[in-house]
Amino acid sequence: MEGNVFDYLIVGAGFAGSVLAERLASDDGAKVLIIDKRPHIGGNAFDHYNDAGILVHKYGPHIFHTNSREVFEYLSRFTEWRPYEHRVLASVDGQLLPIPINLDTINRLYGLSLTSLQAADFLSSLAERRDPVRTSEDVIVSKVGRELYEKFFRNYTRKQWDLDPSQLDATVTARVPVRTNRDDRYFSDTYQAMPLRGYTRLFENMLDHPNIKILLNADYHEVVDEIPYREMIYTGPVDEFFDYCYGKLPYRSLLFKHETIDKPVWQPAPVVNYPNEHLYTRVTEFKYLTGQEHSKTSIVYEYPRAEGDPYYPVPRPDNAEMYKRYKALADATPFVHFVGRLATYKYYNMDQVVAQALKLYSKLSGARSTATRAFENGSGLTFVNHPA
Ligand SMILES: Cc1cc2nc3c(=O)[nH]c(=O)nc-3n(C[C@H](O)[C@H](O)[C@H](O)COP(=O)(O)OP(=O)(O)OC[C@H]3O[C@@H](n4cnc5c(N)ncnc54)[C@H](O)[C@@H]3O)c2cc1C
Repeated sequence: MEGNVFDYLIVGAGFAGSVLAERLASDDGAKVLIIDKRPHIGGNAFDHYNDAGILVHKYGPHIFHTNSREVFEYLSRFTEWRPYEHRVLASVDGQLLPIPINLDTINRLYGLSLTSLQAADFLSSLAERRDPVRTSEDVIVSKVGRELYEKFFRNYTRKQWDLDPSQLDATVTARVPVRTNRDDRYFSDTYQAMPLRGYTRLFENMLDHPNIKILLNADYHEVVDEIPYREMIYTGPVDEFFDYCYGKLPYRSLLFKHETIDKPVWQPAPVVNYPNEHLYTRVTEFKYLTGQEHSKTSIVYEYPRAEGDPYYPVPRPDNAEMYKRYKALADATPFVHFVGRLATYKYYNMDQVVAQALKLYSKLSGARSTATRAFENGSGLTFVNHPA
């Protein structure tokens, strides 16, 4: 930092912004200002102790899982972990059944006692051939047939997206597994764990560096002209950055209804999905996730919405087209780096955002060392090039 100029202004203190702040400050010695319009760090992964003293996730359940050793080891610098394998039940035909669909789901739903091999044959007999597989409906119906699709997937998707699966890209459900064994884990990643003292503590540790300053309750538009900086890392919505010049990129939002109940356990699994009944899609009980012992318990209901905070980009071809135009603008904007789920208009899990941020960091630090070397070699090229 020369004088009072920050090397980087980082907009957004979620995983994308915080990982970059940490890397640039600790590894590169850069002076960083990270801002967020919310009153807290952590982005959507923010957790806190509610009035009853129970640790809850303000923006819905965040389960950490990854196959990336690099990401897991990197985050392990800032937290210890609690081993945790996520499990979900779906309320269907008056029963609570394992989801993803597995051998027990099939046997209990149909009152059968099939073996794994028989279940595989059973599912093949239900599956309908779809060629090509274009929509989310095609994906599911071609795996498990129409009846299971109707019971477990169709209405859940309609609630979640306000679109029928036949109107949604195949990518939305492409990774939904169907199992013929009794594995009832929701994820099958190599690393599955929760930060032992919560996500917010992880973020506090990550940002605890003398080169990192944090400014909260600060919308980028309100402060950007007041802050001297050389380069910007922007993790907010890309369409907002460009004043919606090509229109507003559509998102689905959620309303979270948090509740604390005066008994130690509320439901028999961390998450119960409600595909067919109720306006909400699922109920999460946080103590399963955090392992906290408490005489009361806290849950959250999720009600999908059109309006509100942007959570899920709507994966439809026309939206992808609009994003392409914004991406071209972003690529042509010097000294601003767009990273994270809002700035790239893509639903990413936390580990994917961490990986994306680490990748951008190696690019930035590589570019810096090349520029520094050129400068030392007398080419006169410097990396201090943005008069803020
Ligand atoms: C309901 C829900 C459940 C999820 N569950 C999981 C899960 O179980 N496992 C998993 O791996 N992932 C999960 N995710 C995904 C996870 O939340 C994201 O991967 C992660 O939050 C992305 O980090 P980010 O930094 O890109 O974005 P964010 O966490 O959204 O951070 C962006 C930050 O930028 C700030 N910002 C935006 N605009 C401005 C502005 N104009 N000025 C200042 N600040 C601004 C925002 O306030 C926000 O804090 C879930 C997401 C949702 C919505």
